[in-house]
Amino acid sequence: MNLRGLHLLLTYQCNYECEHCFVWGSPSQGGTMTLAQVREIYRQAQALGTVETIYLEGGEPFLYYPIMCRAAQEAAEMGFGVGIVTNNYWATSVEDALEWLRPLAGVLQDLSISTDLFHADEVVSAQARNALVAAEQLGISTGTLICESPLETVVNGDASQGDVVMYKGRAAVKLAQSVKERHPWHIFNECPYETLDDPGRVHVDCEGNLHLCQGITMGSLFERSLADLVSSYDPSAHPIVGPLLAGGPAALVQRYDLPHEATYVDACHLCYTVRETLRARFPDCLGPGQVYGAGLPRA
Ligand code: SF4
Repeated sequence: MNLRGLHLLLTYQCNYECEHCFVWGSPSQGGTMTLAQVREIYRQAQALGTVETIYLEGGEPFLYYPIMCRAAQEAAEMGFGVGIVTNNYWATSVEDALEWLRPLAGVLQDLSISTDLFHADEVVSAQARNALVAAEQLGISTGTLICESPLETVVNGDASQGDVVMYKGRAAVKLAQSVKERHPWHIFNECPYETLDDPGRVHVDCEGNLHLCQGITMGSLFERSLADLVSSYDPSAHPIVGPLLAGGPAALVQRYDLPHEATYVDACHLCYTVRETLRARFPDCLGPGQVYGAGLPRA
């Protein structure tokens, strides 16, 4: 496993509650990293020796602005390439966006601007435009993350169309209900998005959980070191990843003889839905509760 990127879920909290959110971001969510936890993650990343890039995301990391800025600055000082993913709620004008971004100039390699019709009335919202202009003025490189409409789905092996919605997290529970185009469950015989056998990046949350995909974990670096978790990672022996590698979400159904619907929107919809039924059996691999919407309204 050649781990080159760590994406820190600085918080599960978000000011929005988008229907397509993988991690059930919400104002009601709990789970935010302390600066001490961030520093411990960086220390372990540096000790591992292969991590080149740190991203700060969430949830919405700008909700914890001083901690996010300090975390970005310290990551840059340690030699990591640093990125932030944001929904831009803070960019109420170009003038104000300049103030928000100024401490990050010379620190960030990438500001990823998430904007689409799930977040606003326009694909590129006024806040996103303000953030893009301010970032350009400050010399901060940007990228945009635009999720296509719910009608754009990937069936198998064609994930090259851009940022299509993946029906996991809240998207699997809420958004999937409104999608008419569905496919027989057994055709979802591979994971179209994640390189589960040799992931180049993983997400890490405030409990130290390393997420191979949101909600599929390989342990906590607060319980075992990152170096130990990486060196002992055996994808075929992982109770969830093993079946996924062998035959995608359909193989998960077959391996554990799970009840299922006849059709699903995409591979993630089937994967997430069956994982929910396996959580009690594999609590060490499927969690934490935030990523499965625990305690949040599902209707
Ligand atoms: S198929 Fe499963 S493991 Fe692959 S991206 Fe979708 S939810 Fe994640």
